[in-house]
Amino acid sequence: MTSPRLEDRFLRRINYLRVSVTDRCNLRCTYCMPAGGVAPLGHGEVLSYEEILRVARVALSLGIEKIRITGGEPLVRRGILGFLERVAALPGLKDLSLTTNGILLKEMAGALRRAGLRRVNVSLDTLRPEVFERVARRPGLERVLAGIDAARDAGLSPLKINVVAMRGVNDDEVLDFAEFARARDCEVRFIEFMPARRDAWDSGSLLPAAEILSVLSSRYALVPTEAEGISGPCRTYLLPGGGRVGVISPMSDHFCGTCNRLRLTAEGKLRSCLFSDRQVDLRRILRSSAEDDRALEACIREAVHHKPERHAASDPSAEQCGLSMSRVGG
Ligand code: SAM
Ligand code: SF4
Repeated sequence: MTSPRLEDRFLRRINYLRVSVTDRCNLRCTYCMPAGGVAPLGHGEVLSYEEILRVARVALSLGIEKIRITGGEPLVRRGILGFLERVAALPGLKDLSLTTNGILLKEMAGALRRAGLRRVNVSLDTLRPEVFERVARRPGLERVLAGIDAARDAGLSPLKINVVAMRGVNDDEVLDFAEFARARDCEVRFIEFMPARRDAWDSGSLLPAAEILSVLSSRYALVPTEAEGISGPCRTYLLPGGGRVGVISPMSDHFCGTCNRLRLTAEGKLRSCLFSDRQVDLRRILRSSAEDDRALEACIREAVHHKPERHAASDPSAEQCGLSMSRVGG
């Protein structure tokens, strides 16, 4: 039997769903949230685990193969371990991953592995405590570092560290992060700073991937990995002696041509592009048709159909993402 395929108008195969399980977070990163946080969704506004599982089941039956759990901070939502266990057991799922800020990882890494999670991405933008506190508006570097070690000890692999690269903030830490990757034999991925919060973004903060690669090449002979080009939007390179570095360049080099994603927000909106406000309200469907999945299937297909050819994040006049990344699920 051939597996189902979900394809958009531009013949892109859509097989990856990112699910934000909460809009809440224990950090307040400047690029993601205002200092006071965003007004939290009410209890009934957030999809229940049962509802998310139903969407996931239907999406898998249509051709989704990979699911990433994100947030907000996914590890702050109560019951996350039992939920992950149920997602991991869904038929048709080929890859389950989670993105976390690492604050709670030290305590939870072993249990996450036992729940069926195989790998995690940890967000960490600096190796300096004072810069961490400035960017995250909370202390926590030591906890995140301990969480990364705990994830490795628990066998969560491959371990990937996401660094939002910002000129004037952490641009002088590129080589330190490469040494971090070599020492821990993990992958550090530099992500270009995106205008998710217009008021916290100026183009001067953008550190283009080409510049990051040129700094890395000044010290190391970078060897492109075989997976380059086929492992999603990240261009990855082996470092001499162990570890890998990668760059993700949503701003300087669109990778929309190969985008395979859908995003489900914490409140049940399905989005086909991080930078577009166009969304389909699955919560309404979930709550009005408890038994019949056909309306849900139609909505998922509609979101796929309207997936834009490319985003326009650097065009101020274009359709924009009006939500914080914490709610959309970065
Ligand atoms: N709280 C978790 C975390 O920080 O890993 C998961 C949610 S967070 C929204 C997911 C990812 O989005 C993080 O790696 C974060 O650094 C990234 N992100 C948020 N705002 C961003 C921005 N303006 N530009 C680039 N990446 C951003
Ligand atoms: Fe929280 Fe992640 Fe947003 Fe930082 S990037 S405020 S950790 S959701």
